Amino acid sequence: MRTLATILIFLAGVVIGASGASAQPKVTGVRIGAHPDKTRFVMDLTEEPAYRVFALPDPFRVVLDLPELDWQLPAEAWRKGGGMVKALRFGLFAPGTSRVVLDVEGPVRIKSVFTIGPTDGRPHRLVVDLAPVSRQAFLADPGRAIQSAKALPALQPSQPQIEGKTDDRITLVIDPGHGGVDPGAIGVSGVREKDIVLRVAQELRRQLEAKGRYRVILTRDKDVFLTLAQRREVARQAGADLFISLHADSNRSRKVRGASVYTLSENASDAVASELAERENKADLIAGVDLEGQTDDVSSILLDLTQRETMNLSAKFATMMVEELSKRVKVLANTHRFAGFVVLKAHDVPSVLIELGFLSNRADDRLLSAPRQRKRLAEAVRAAVDRYFSWQATLRRS
Ligand SMILES: [Zn+2]
Repeated sequence: MRTLATILIFLAGVVIGASGASAQPKVTGVRIGAHPDKTRFVMDLTEEPAYRVFALPDPFRVVLDLPELDWQLPAEAWRKGGGMVKALRFGLFAPGTSRVVLDVEGPVRIKSVFTIGPTDGRPHRLVVDLAPVSRQAFLADPGRAIQSAKALPALQPSQPQIEGKTDDRITLVIDPGHGGVDPGAIGVSGVREKDIVLRVAQELRRQLEAKGRYRVILTRDKDVFLTLAQRREVARQAGADLFISLHADSNRSRKVRGASVYTLSENASDAVASELAERENKADLIAGVDLEGQTDDVSSILLDLTQRETMNLSAKFATMMVEELSKRVKVLANTHRFAGFVVLKAHDVPSVLIELGFLSNRADDRLLSAPRQRKRLAEAVRAAVDRYFSWQATLRRS
């Protein structure tokens, strides 16, 4: 009986899988061609796609928004650039919207965007032509988005709707960094930060939920992009008692390795922490979010007293976190550092950011790719969380 049930479930899975996949246009190839007067980007698809294409400055990039696509191309087939395109990234940007980002060498003008129907056995094609312009010309007129006549589905807000507290369990929000079109750091073996941190977050949730003491919410539970503000908003909606953002760093020196813990500060503790915050704060830019009109100045919120209290609590948790990590894994020297991380900027939620290791280091890359190390890291976080809330309980009693 059990075998039959298993087969039926398996078949149902296949049917659902098949119908799910066929609902989305499939990308069957991408190419970049360097011509004397332009760089041409071509995408092969099983259907004519709706599109919106626009360019953004600093760093210069061209963004293509498309309906959610089935993208099964092997990484070798598309990650490399050509012509003015340095690199190419792809991912889910919001529910129903896939995004391709072309990182370009310098300012470009989108000369034209068009589709070609299937001819001579070739598939549907989407063509984007780019030409170089001066920085001055670009900034004076960045050009408007070029859209297909066929409308794209409206951009769905990807803000997850989180229920507030419903019982007296402690609420923890775990934030796996990056996701979707933003891969984060790329390891020496090719592993991506966004995948590593999601797996650690899922393992951590499993360990924390096992005790029944905590309600655990992940800002993302799949490979999707969220802005830094959306991640903080999850913590606010959930009424989080603690917010933990998970990352894995990369360094020019391949020798640097070990975990480290960061909390928010207006003034960075050192140049390394400050550079790190700058890299992590770029996540929105990398995904092609237009930040115009958004002010996310860290210094502007550090004045109020709630924030001071929150910062003290964050520092307390960070100290415990460092101790628990040190017992189990290799950590950086002076490992509690601080800097202006935008994702940690919540008025009343104690927040820390953990860099689990360096993907630029061969040993760390190998360790973080292994379930055993991810389990050990999750154990360290769980132990620190237990200690922190026990300490809080004693405070409340005294
Ligand atoms: Zn990161």
